[in-house]
Amino acid sequence: KYLQELSERKRLYNEVIELKGNIKVFCRCRPLNQVEITNGSNHVVEFDSSLDNELQIISSDSSKKQFKFDHVFRPEDNQEAVFAQTKPIVTSVLDGYNVCIFAYGQTGTGKTFTMEGNPENRGVNYRTLDELFRLSQERSGVMRYELFVSMLEVYNEKIKDLLVENSNQPTKKLEIKQTAEGTQEVPGLVEAQVNGTEDVWELLKSGSRARSVGSTSANELSSRSHCLLRVTVRGENLIDGQKTRSHLWMVDLAGSERVGKIDVEGERLKESQFINKSLSALGDVIAALASKTGHIPYRNSKLTHMLQSSLGGDCKTLMFVQISPSSADVGETICSLNFASRVRGIESGPARKQADLSELSKYKQMVEKLKHDEKETK
Ligand code: ADP
Ligand code: MG
Repeated sequence: KYLQELSERKRLYNEVIELKGNIKVFCRCRPLNQVEITNGSNHVVEFDSSLDNELQIISSDSSKKQFKFDHVFRPEDNQEAVFAQTKPIVTSVLDGYNVCIFAYGQTGTGKTFTMEGNPENRGVNYRTLDELFRLSQERSGVMRYELFVSMLEVYNEKIKDLLVENSNQPTKKLEIKQTAEGTQEVPGLVEAQVNGTEDVWELLKSGSRARSVGSTSANELSSRSHCLLRVTVRGENLIDGQKTRSHLWMVDLAGSERVGKIDVEGERLKESQFINKSLSALGDVIAALASKTGHIPYRNSKLTHMLQSSLGGDCKTLMFVQISPSSADVGETICSLNFASRVRGIESGPARKQADLSELSKYKQMVEKLKHDEKETK
């Protein structure tokens, strides 16, 4: 009887999680920088003093627009605060979940700061691996874990391995292949086994260096390509021998800023078209998953195709939408926030609202039932 109750409870919990959704969006606003302060830029992002999931933008016509996300980080929130909210999502890779996290936003809003960070302010990538090592140590009595890291770049719809030794050599072309189990693989991609934090720091550094080879300015190229860090976890349950393999992808996306067709031509125009195409493909895929519509258009870009087995189903997705607080950027800021709202499936349309209300009451009932059950068992 107890087992029956337990499995019923587990089913309910899963349903609750399903309703809450496994797609989350965090917004992070960086501080005004020195140049902006000197130029007298206004801070156009306002936060509610008591709510940590809302913000308001004062647009150029002084009207206010409100946005809601799963969490909103303010300029004063540090890397530790950001990681505290991110940790439960990324560490679920150890329990066999596939996880994707993305940093989206205009160039200069802190995507790389959030993901990579710097030696004084390490970002999500490093903190995550550190935590995975700590947890695998902690669980070593019941689980054995092996961690592998790959790092690659998608530029103009071409995949480049960032961990190939001597990346000055022209690297062989990488393609996405479908495996017999129906998952996606990139044959030939380097997978480096990592055993501790030291290994990781070295690898991430060499990967970042490879990224800038061939470009006049590292920063320029990095804003026009997607950088993907993949952690593969192989787990073995030492009690029942069950084996798991799961992926965690941490993605620093290309800058989302719109480039005026008049300003650019040739190579630069082609680049921006590739970026637009892949970012909107990503938006379409996540929005389709969030609204639970039938067809998910994974095949529209290399990025979404490669991540196909890690997006959707019971996979977890987190998007950081990075914004600037400056009045000079308000147009791009509103674009990014609109993109993120759509991704979260919280666009307010009449049909959608109705569905949300009924889902909400179903969710409330479940919580009541769980509370009741809890009391009964006590
Ligand atoms: P992106 O990758 O989106 O182009 P960067 O991560 O390179 O942007 O950030 C641009 C600049 O702003 C960098 O100098 C970075 O250190 C700084 N910065 C970004 N976010 C923050 C933050 N939350 N706190 C302090 N400095 C930040
Ligand atoms: Mg960057």
